Amino acid sequence: MSHSTQRSLHDPDFAGLREILAADGVNPWHTRALWGALHREGSLDLASRTFLPPLQRWIERSVGEGKAYFLDAPELVEEIRSDDGLTRKFLLRLRDGQTIETVLMGYAGRHTVCVSTQAGCAMGCVFCATGQGGFVRHLRPGEIVAQVLHARRVLGEIAPGRRLRNLVLMGMGEPLHNYESVMQALSSIADPGGISIGPSRIAISTVGVVPGILRLAEEKRPYKLAVSLHGSTQDERAALVPVAKRWPLESLIEACREYGKISGKRIFFEWTLIAGKNDSPETASRLAGLLAGIDAHINLIPLNPTGGFAGVESDGTTGEQFQQILLAAGFPCTFRQRRGIDVAAGCGMLRGAGRF
Ligand code: SF4
Repeated sequence: MSHSTQRSLHDPDFAGLREILAADGVNPWHTRALWGALHREGSLDLASRTFLPPLQRWIERSVGEGKAYFLDAPELVEEIRSDDGLTRKFLLRLRDGQTIETVLMGYAGRHTVCVSTQAGCAMGCVFCATGQGGFVRHLRPGEIVAQVLHARRVLGEIAPGRRLRNLVLMGMGEPLHNYESVMQALSSIADPGGISIGPSRIAISTVGVVPGILRLAEEKRPYKLAVSLHGSTQDERAALVPVAKRWPLESLIEACREYGKISGKRIFFEWTLIAGKNDSPETASRLAGLLAGIDAHINLIPLNPTGGFAGVESDGTTGEQFQQILLAAGFPCTFRQRRGIDVAAGCGMLRGAGRF
């Protein structure tokens, strides 16, 4: 069996795994045991485990080198820890040699994993190291699931008994540009019989892919939505986020209104504060006007440094003033806790290169 025709056992969701077993004549009743081993326990060595004979025989026949199926087990190339020990960035190598980054972030009492959805990114945001490097390919569902399994394994070692409770899709790539694979991965990750991260603790972050936002609403996806806005006029935004030329600010806000109406859910708007570019009181007032009537929470993020962008973060007073204007307009508005700046694992700093 050639490498390319092998399929990952981490790609399918529960129903898909059931179909795989059924197609090979194994009673679908065995799906639960296989699913539990893969997702609940995170086993990467099915051969060393004991299953009921029909499933055991199928595994011997079908899983492994030269057989029909493989397990997604990206190789850890490098792990970097922040000085405070709370953030760990993993550089992971996929089967075709591409490298991606996954970040495990510890906050008081909770742990969050930030995963990549693409190798590289096609969106080209000017302040983002991943965008500066261009697009390579979409990740398969199994490659997304495997990042969560890796982070959970590490968490089990450093903080036994702690559960990985939160997932954000804010690593490399634009999740709504890889919609099907991302949705398939998320249903596996949220499955209560598997990894079991509750849907309300999963946040999809988009730079503004309008059709994807509308699709999330139409399909009633139960996840949180975060929209990276960064500009309060079309020109201001398009200078930072080139994809705004394809989906202009007006249509993005319209899509958010529609999303809110259909889903009844709050939208989180991400705003990277860049000195002199998008941090003036006028911009804050314009932003408040733009979001009027939307159930919105605004997350302010001081710009993280990347080599390829000359902008600098706003100073503290300017940032606070910006926040006050939004609060006064009635919007919840918070500064995102910064994590992992010293290991280049903050937002927009992921690149997938060997050095950080
Ligand atoms: S910020 Fe997100 S969408 Fe923009 S280039 Fe970076 S990874 Fe892509």
